[in-house]
Amino acid sequence: MKSKVRLFTPGPVPMYPSTLEIGARQTPYFRNEAFSKVVLECEAMLLDTLNAPAGSRALFLGASGTGAMEAAAANLVAPGEKVAAVVGGGFGARFAQIARFYGAEVTEITVGDDNLSDTAPLEAHREASVLLLNAHETSVGLLYDVASVGKFCREHGQLFVVDAISMYVTDPLDMEGWGIDAVILSSQKGLALPPGLSAVLLSPRAQRRLTPSRSYYFDLGRALEDGARGQTPFTPPVTILLQLHDRLKGIVRDGIGNEQRRAAALAERFREGIAPLPLAFYRRHMPNAMTALSPTDGRSARELVAALETRYGMVLTPNGGALADTVFRVGHMGAMTPADIDALLDALSDYYGEKR
Ligand SMILES: *Cc1c(COP(=O)(O)O)cnc(C)c1O
Repeated sequence: MKSKVRLFTPGPVPMYPSTLEIGARQTPYFRNEAFSKVVLECEAMLLDTLNAPAGSRALFLGASGTGAMEAAAANLVAPGEKVAAVVGGGFGARFAQIARFYGAEVTEITVGDDNLSDTAPLEAHREASVLLLNAHETSVGLLYDVASVGKFCREHGQLFVVDAISMYVTDPLDMEGWGIDAVILSSQKGLALPPGLSAVLLSPRAQRRLTPSRSYYFDLGRALEDGARGQTPFTPPVTILLQLHDRLKGIVRDGIGNEQRRAAALAERFREGIAPLPLAFYRRHMPNAMTALSPTDGRSARELVAALETRYGMVLTPNGGALADTVFRVGHMGAMTPADIDALLDALSDYYGEKR
């Protein structure tokens, strides 16, 4: 390993010193009032930062983000129900697949380089009673216009379920203002915590729409009941919840807008810095969280990612499948500084033989 390895991956992301300190401590017992208080405060702070409607709830699950997507499908979608899923990349395809797995009749809204601020592509899917969207399609770095999609869902009485896993914290999200019924979060992206904790936020409307759970472990009705007293049906990732509590206190204290401005400044610094290099943005509508790029000089993206790691200790993210040679991704989440961005720009310039 290089003495200093810098992570620019969209999960895990660089973590803050206080997160690391909490991770080094003994995990405490958790079926007590002290821990219930931590969970209830985490819930209140999450709902606050997302401008959740009054009466909304946040439920914590011991699972990666996909577990929370599965929990949503197993508790909000009835067998045979018509579901529309926005598919702009791998995570949209996964959401569609999960809903299908649970017996929904899924139609896919296939999206290219478009953020759906014009909702015309949704028109053919107005019969669906649920719409699934990954606010940031992380596989290609595409940020959707969640507000416009939410308005469409309201007009057509659709339950709007948003996977915000890779844009929460770094990019604005407004449950009440944008008409979102359920939000899915996970610990290892913008929250800058270790992987293993995810959350499902439910508006009052989503709570009323809960179906009998078709998953034993991911039973959101039971989680709602236990969560009312700050507990979870099963052992939660106790240490990650303590890290979340610490992180949310910081976010609430400084204001989540500050986090977003910081991420936006890092993204802008990076995007301006690569201007002289043979790299093109892969999608027009980019989040603060991440930049997806394509080499324009014919060299392979996969080779670039490998070289950046072995030569410079910079860990970028390769794409898989058909995009392996044409797209790679650079995260701007977590405890990243302008100096990290500059070090990456220096490495990229050196790789291309450009002076900076
Ligand atoms: C990371 C991510 C997930 C969850 O992936 P896990 O590996 O299960 O944590 C889901 N949706 C999006 C948009 C993501 O970026």
